Amino acid sequence: MSDCIFCKIANGEIPSEIVYQDELITVFKDASPMAPVHVLMVPKVHISSMDELTEEDSSLISHMMLKIKHIAKILELDNGYRVVINCGEDGQQTVKHLHIHILGKRKMIWPPG
Ligand code: AMP
Ligand code: ZN
Repeated sequence: MSDCIFCKIANGEIPSEIVYQDELITVFKDASPMAPVHVLMVPKVHISSMDELTEEDSSLISHMMLKIKHIAKILELDNGYRVVINCGEDGQQTVKHLHIHILGKRKMIWPPG
């Protein structure tokens, strides 16, 4: 989508600190990190939120989920990490391109606020 910031990051049109990418996804550092390590994994195709996923996205979502542990290894999150997907208004999703937060290197609070 032409005016989507994460489409632009995923496709290299605007710079970001990329930590991993392949043909389906880009993983880059969050601009306002909420933990010592905070990256976002996005699909290269525009999907606006979890709510928009369909059966056709099954292999993409599977790919994303299975890559998380690989990203955790790259980022040396040996002591664990948190994975977050915000969806919609109550979920406080601010960027309308599906993204998975991966956070680590500090103890996470539960439940979140
Ligand atoms: P969410 O609230 O789940 O939609 O998360 C959006 C995240 O994107 C926030 O953590 C922002 O800090 C992050 N963010 C927004 N714009 C950028 C950007 N240009 N580069 C990196 N991270 C960004
Ligand atoms: Zn997008």
